[in-house]
Amino acid sequence: MRLKSSKVNEFRLWGLVMIMVGMGIMILGTAGIVFWGPKVQWLAGIFLILGMIAMLGSVAIYFWAGILSTSATVLECPECGRQTKVLGTTDRCMYCKTILTYDPAYADQADQQNDPQ
Ligand SMILES: [Zn+2]
Repeated sequence: MRLKSSKVNEFRLWGLVMIMVGMGIMILGTAGIVFWGPKVQWLAGIFLILGMIAMLGSVAIYFWAGILSTSATVLECPECGRQTKVLGTTDRCMYCKTILTYDPAYADQADQQNDPQ
């Protein structure tokens, strides 16, 4: 897993990106009418629908992230001592980004990635 932050935070980030993209598409669609006149109204309609789909997608991601975070294991991070949520066997701390794992096979690898050098 090459995640730069914890999975819960990653989902929230993608949810936010999807909302931004959705809003951007909707704004572009409406801006199209301003620039090219009412004859491109059909195009604006398509853009609005695409934007709506992107925003619904982001809602779905947020919803999924919410469900996942309720099933995540809450533990105290050994690095920063704060309560964090772990999804799956390997995840990063939500606060200090330390890789936390239950799998002994990945423990050495995680240690190397956590090395400040
Ligand atoms: Zn931590």
